Amino acid sequence: MCHLLIVEESEFALRQAVVAYYETKEPFYLPAELAEGEDVFLATADGIVAYAEVLFSEYTTRPADPHWLVEADEQERTYACLDLISVDLRHPLLGSGFPALNIKPGQTDPKTRQWLLEAWQAGHFETDVSTVEEAKKRRIERFRERNHLAPLLASCEACGSTRQSVLEWHEDNGHFKTLCPTCHRLAHQAYQEIQDIAAASDD
Ligand SMILES: [Zn+2]
Ligand SMILES: [Zn+2]
Repeated sequence: MCHLLIVEESEFALRQAVVAYYETKEPFYLPAELAEGEDVFLATADGIVAYAEVLFSEYTTRPADPHWLVEADEQERTYACLDLISVDLRHPLLGSGFPALNIKPGQTDPKTRQWLLEAWQAGHFETDVSTVEEAKKRRIERFRERNHLAPLLASCEACGSTRQSVLEWHEDNGHFKTLCPTCHRLAHQAYQEIQDIAAASDD
């Protein structure tokens, strides 16, 4: 079973919450009645930002969470406890909003689930890594870059491209640079080569 849960961001700061909970690896609660083990795509009105698994659902008053932007009432309702699998605030395929993608919130049919999973993974994981170590390292870099919340510059800092819709953050020694995807790939390839030389000269 798969569920698309759209969160009203004036009520719950979803983007900040998923970045924080992905880093701390803490599960968190959202109001929804979902089955244990079910997978959930978490979305704002602009698109999907995270993929999670339901640990359990609980009938309770609202569990404390600093990301709520509205006062809690004392009403009991069902809350799903969620464990994040991946977070991506700048997903290339799913940033286009739901009317454009023709997907409805709630339970998704198996075909839509398959499509969503493939689209999410295609945008999320790197294909140009050769070892598990590299993949792990790249995933962490990718997480920090794609979930950096500052506004991007108007053009790529390497080639000057102004195609705003494709520009992204690159982290370089703790500093964030705005790059286009081509310059971004080159930046990581160059970085890898320098590291390889450094590793070889150590031996
Ligand atoms: Zn560029
Ligand atoms: Zn980068």
